Amino acid sequence: MSNCIFCKIINRQLPAVTVFEDDKVMAFMDIYPLRRGHVLLIPKLHQQQMHHLPAEYREHLVNTASRVAQALYACSLKPAAVHYMVNDGPAAQQTVPHVHMHVLPRYPGDSINFLARLLRKPFDLAMGPENSLMLETLAADIRQELEKS
Ligand code: AMP
Ligand code: ZN
Repeated sequence: MSNCIFCKIINRQLPAVTVFEDDKVMAFMDIYPLRRGHVLLIPKLHQQQMHHLPAEYREHLVNTASRVAQALYACSLKPAAVHYMVNDGPAAQQTVPHVHMHVLPRYPGDSINFLARLLRKPFDLAMGPENSLMLETLAADIRQELEKS
């Protein structure tokens, strides 16, 4: 879809710090991360909601998200857990109308900090994207682990 920012990332009309890509899926760093290591996965097909996707794309998205999570566990971030999160429609706070899955590192005792980051998100959007060198450094770490899996 021509005015979709995630389609523009797939078509290289917008930049992204990519950690993985194949014919059906792309995984890249969220530029307004809720925390270090916040990765987004998108199918290379423009659909707004999960149930609109052909099963092969949906299954590949979930399988790749699981590989990304494994890479997060293995890389320097060493989370204790991850969130797999899909805001599947505008009423569920979906802000980009192209299916995407968030993979977010979590740590023991980080709930207050995590909720604060969620509430602060509109302010972070106004402040502009995360430092790209920081994202590149994290992405290189995650990519290295993905290449092993
Ligand atoms: P959602 O609120 O579930 O629709 O998530 C959309 C996500 O896309 C948010 O976490 C944004 O920070 C992220 N985002 C928006 N634009 C970009 C972009 N150009 N590159 C990477 N992530 C983006
Ligand atoms: Zn799209």
